[in-house]
Amino acid sequence: MTNLWKSRYGDAPASGRCRAAVRGEGRWPSLSQCRRTATVTRDDIGYCHQHDPEVERKRADDRQRQWQEAARAREEAAEFKAATERAMLACKAACQLIADGANDSRRIAREAVALFPSTNSC
Ligand SMILES: [Zn+2]
Repeated sequence: MTNLWKSRYGDAPASGRCRAAVRGEGRWPSLSQCRRTATVTRDDIGYCHQHDPEVERKRADDRQRQWQEAARAREEAAEFKAATERAMLACKAACQLIADGANDSRRIAREAVALFPSTNSC
């Protein structure tokens, strides 16, 4: 992920500084060597904390995990909503049965209520 800076003109990279290539600013951005001091060395190449390949990998893994957790939470919320809607329809049908004079109203109501998904808050 970390791109190493390499001079187009064959200049040696500045020693003691991070070797990551960073974008410059301006109308015509170009890559230049990171200005930070190298604090870690990986495979004989110095990196600052921000561009340390292991830190970047960990950051990417954390981001991936957060996305997966958010996607799972969205799926669970959608499943909960769908189950609740099904239970509401079943309750409406149960109420209709009871209103029409069904004899076993408690069993009908119990079966309809059992269709609601369980929650931690209720
Ligand atoms: Zn750097």
